[in-house]
Order: sequence, then structure tokens, then C-alpha cells
Amino acid sequence: MVDSHCHLADDAFADDLDAVVARAREAGVTRALCILAAGDEKESSSAERLRALWPDVRFSVGVHPHQAGGFAGRTSAALDAVRGGIAAEGALAVGEIGLDYHYDFAPRVVQQNVFEAQVALAGELGLPVVIHTREATDDTFDVLRRARPLVRGVFHCFTGDVAMARRALDIDFYVSLSGIVTFPRATALREVAAMVPADRLLVETDAPYLAPVPHRGKRNEPAFVGRVAEVVGEVRFTSAAGIASLVTRNLEALLGPNVSLQTA
Ligand SMILES: [Zn+2]
Ligand SMILES: [Zn+2]
Repeated sequence: MVDSHCHLADDAFADDLDAVVARAREAGVTRALCILAAGDEKESSSAERLRALWPDVRFSVGVHPHQAGGFAGRTSAALDAVRGGIAAEGALAVGEIGLDYHYDFAPRVVQQNVFEAQVALAGELGLPVVIHTREATDDTFDVLRRARPLVRGVFHCFTGDVAMARRALDIDFYVSLSGIVTFPRATALREVAAMVPADRLLVETDAPYLAPVPHRGKRNEPAFVGRVAEVVGEVRFTSAAGIASLVTRNLEALLGPNVSLQTA
């Protein structure tokens, strides 16, 4: 089993990171992709601690749309921070990056500039992108379609409908489902869980956020990713173990042919 997206370097884990990692391993989570905010020194020191505790963790670095405002008119500074983070962490992906028009923490045009530049950087470096998009579907796809060279990647914490999932699949992206898929009212998302092809499906916690049922409302952690796999398995008429093995393969494929994420 893998957790394709979590924030283990977040302050929420500062006090008990070792116990969180131990519970993840006990739950059979062999690897996790840890998302880091570019230029955040606190997170990079937590990442160092995390790497010592869990050598199999992998990293992704990017400027989140919520943080894009700090780079208004300074897109090249954003790229410097991402390049620096990728080199320092040995990151295998650029993200999370994207557009968030729900919170609009940064002006949209700034979000777009910072997003588009990071997509181009990912293309240049040959790395996949981890996409965060909220209420910005058309603009997000416009950027990804315009990208030259084309980039590969994943829509993390996918919350769209089947039609949006088709658009993601049409550009060969992965669709990653979070604990939201376990929420009682998430019927449309469970339809998505049923239709995504086996070679395009991922699961994640997005910990510390979005704990799945029955942990809903508490701090989330990678050990809970099995609950997401269970519910996805139910709607696909397969076992959680079946989901675990296919998402493990898929994360390996996403992060590149040179990286073995198979269970030792
Ligand atoms: Zn996100
Ligand atoms: Zn996230």
C-alpha cells in the first residue's frame, strides 16, 4: 500500500512524527509521497527528520496556489524556490501546484502565472506534476493542454464528476481519491472511483487534512489510507488488497521508471 499524497512535514506532525510513521508502516503503507511547500525552511527541516525515520518516503516540491500571492510579479523567484527544493530534497515531482478559485487566497492571474511557469519547469525537468484544482477546472485544463513539452501527472484529491474525470484521463493523467470518497454524501465521487481505469487510479490521505470515515474530523495520517482503498475497492467489486497492489504499481509508474516503489 502507498499514500500518494500527504503533508508529513506539516506542523501538525511535529510532536509525534515517529509514531505517525510507525503506525503507517504497521498498517502496511510501504511508501508515501510527501508534499513540500517550496522555500519553506521549516518544512525542509521536517523533511530531513522524516527521511531519517522513513527512508522510503518520496518528495514533491511546489508553490501551492494558496501561496502564489507571495510571488506576484516574481514568477522567476517561484521557479528558483522550486528548483532549489527539488535539488535539495531529491524530489520526483513538481507539486502541489494549480488553481484554487474557491478560496482565492491569491489573485487569479498570479495563480495562473505561477502555475503555468511550474508546469513548464516540470516539462523541462521531465518530472510529473501534482495538481490541486478547485472551482477552476477549465483554466486548469487550458494550462495543462498548452504545456509544451506535455507533462504527465495526477489530479490530487479529485473531487470532480465523471465528466471531469474523463477530461483528466483524456490527457493521460492519474486520478487520486482521498478520504472524501468515504463520506456518506460523496455518491458522485464513488461513481468516479468505479470508472477510472485500473492503470490510472491512485489513493491518498492528504494528511493532516480530510480524514476518512470513521476518523472524520480528526487529524488524518497515512495509516488511514487503507480506509480509502477499502471504499474504492467496494465500488469496484474488488478487495482493498487488490486496490493496494494496483495503486502501488501506479505510483511507481507516475514517479518514473527508475524508481522502484514495490514492496521489498
Ligand atoms: Zn491540494
Ligand atoms: Zn495536499
